[in-house]
Amino acid sequence: MIEDVSAIEPAVASALPTFEPGWVWLTGAGPGDPGLMTLHALNGLRQADVVVYDALVDDSVLGWARAGAIIEYAGKRGGKPSPKQRDISLKLIELARAGRRVLRLKGGDPFLFGRGGEEALSLVEAGVPFRVIPGVTAGIGGLAYAGVPVTHRDVNQAVTFLTGHDRHGLTPAAVNWRAVAEGSPVIVMYMAMKHLGEITAKLMDAGRDATEPAVVVRDATLPQMSVLETTLGGLAEDAAAAGIGAPAVICVGRVALMRQALDWVGALSGAAPRALDPLGGRERSEAG
Ligand code: SAH
Repeated sequence: MIEDVSAIEPAVASALPTFEPGWVWLTGAGPGDPGLMTLHALNGLRQADVVVYDALVDDSVLGWARAGAIIEYAGKRGGKPSPKQRDISLKLIELARAGRRVLRLKGGDPFLFGRGGEEALSLVEAGVPFRVIPGVTAGIGGLAYAGVPVTHRDVNQAVTFLTGHDRHGLTPAAVNWRAVAEGSPVIVMYMAMKHLGEITAKLMDAGRDATEPAVVVRDATLPQMSVLETTLGGLAEDAAAAGIGAPAVICVGRVALMRQALDWVGALSGAAPRALDPLGGRERSEAG
């Protein structure tokens, strides 16, 4: 199959694995910008017989699939009911048992709020061999495109990734909001738009300051990316007023302010740099 990966630099392609029939590759496609796919993901796309993709996988990367590959959609779109997770897992198992090379392509990273763990466990149970190809997650790569580093030594030594949505579609009761509020200077939220008012209220009730900087990044890394700069207290209202919906990733914490200096995507389209102190006048650490 090496000729099928000719789109990849030959020296690189020779170091990448051959996709064996009957295998499933659980693959992250990254947050949207096709350039953020990994070489392993591209290598998988160039060899797969079937590509089973999720919502949030950008169409342009599907065009990189091998000619003749079957491209199947399995995800939630436009409010239509989503296929049951069990049905998706069964489909992967069935295709692999029929001797197909199955690329399961998911947005971002397959093991972060992507149900990749559930699919992998089903494959193990069914005795289907698989490989996991991590991807750039929206909560790191997407925020980077908004000029927000999820850590900075002067701001945070810990970061929390949380989902605003449990398996019943509710604000997750399993999250200890007080512990997050007290222990995590930077909080990155996925799937949080629907319950934003409730989530921000929980964080403020637990002591987080309403004036704390926050950003909402919608369609991160894509040409239509939009970024809302606000505060924890203003998040829900400002996002609603701006009409920002999913998919959006949210960052609460002082790193959000750094966008003012680090908005490199804005600079590409000619936005003037803002000369604000990203650390808000606080001292810079001198430690090496
Ligand atoms: N596994 C994915 C997350 C899937 S959950 C990952 O690692 O990124 C879906 C949520 O991810 C969305 O509701 C949104 O919060 C976030 N997301 C995914 N792609 C995004 C994008 N391009 N821009 C903003 N948020 C995104």
